[in-house]
Amino acid sequence: MTAKVVFITGSSRGIGAACALLAAERGYAVCINYLHNQAAAQQVVEAIERAGGTAVALQGDVASEDNVTAMFRAIDARFGRLDALVNNAGILQRQMRVDQMDAARLNQILATNVTGSFLCAREAVRRMSTAHGGAGGAIVNLSSRAAVLGAAGEYVDYAASKAAVDALTIGLAREVAGEGIRVNGVRPGLIRTDIHASGGEPGRVDRLEAAVPMGRGGQPIEVAHAVLWLLADESSYVTGSIIDVAGGR
Ligand code: NAP
Repeated sequence: MTAKVVFITGSSRGIGAACALLAAERGYAVCINYLHNQAAAQQVVEAIERAGGTAVALQGDVASEDNVTAMFRAIDARFGRLDALVNNAGILQRQMRVDQMDAARLNQILATNVTGSFLCAREAVRRMSTAHGGAGGAIVNLSSRAAVLGAAGEYVDYAASKAAVDALTIGLAREVAGEGIRVNGVRPGLIRTDIHASGGEPGRVDRLEAAVPMGRGGQPIEVAHAVLWLLADESSYVTGSIIDVAGGR
């Protein structure tokens, strides 16, 4: 039987890379996506291939409709099937208050985190929905605990974009529940990745982890385990759900 195929956006580093490695371990052929960091994406591909798995790296900006359609066409050409999508690519920008934010910043956050997730979900549904002749599948959207906590003084724009991602999870889940597709979300808390450096504070997890009930930041693999469970048949009756992976915070 041909391996199931998963497309994981933003999987050259961090949580996406952990999801890619775990998906390969579970037997998926993995489509890696990156924006700029080809070397990191290639390392993930090579790690999967060394372990006997199958992976391909696709460059593309999820905020670009042309890039998204081109990546899905590349998946069609290479594998001829798609079973799962992880909408993981996400950005934040330097910490600031709402009264300092300009439209360019807001539009970039929303384009990547919200538009990007919608466009990839659209392409996945067109391929996986039984209403479109597909065989069904699963989608997992990476949200954030910020969607609930609000990220005051840091990035309320990012928090708002993740609240939009949660609405996508709930609405799309209901839209395609009768078409063989489950749609769920994962809300990570403080996870040790490079994303905090892009907010201008590489040591953010160290500063805040004492406030986490479990007393520590999380590792990308701890998020990946939740994502892979939501993709698997083990969660066959779960749709429209959002799992917090945040040490109790
Ligand atoms: P990260 O370490 O900063 O990695 C971001 C990944 O996304 C990289 O692979 C990057 O590619 C890719 N990327 C960025 N913009 C992209 C675009 N426009 N198109 C395609 N790919 C793009 O991030 P992370 O911490 O692993 O976060 C992953 C997801 O979890 C995000 O949605 C984030 O919001 C969410 N999250 C993270 C945390 C946390 O504490 N880390 C907490 C809550 C939620 P390049 O390598 O090419 O730059």
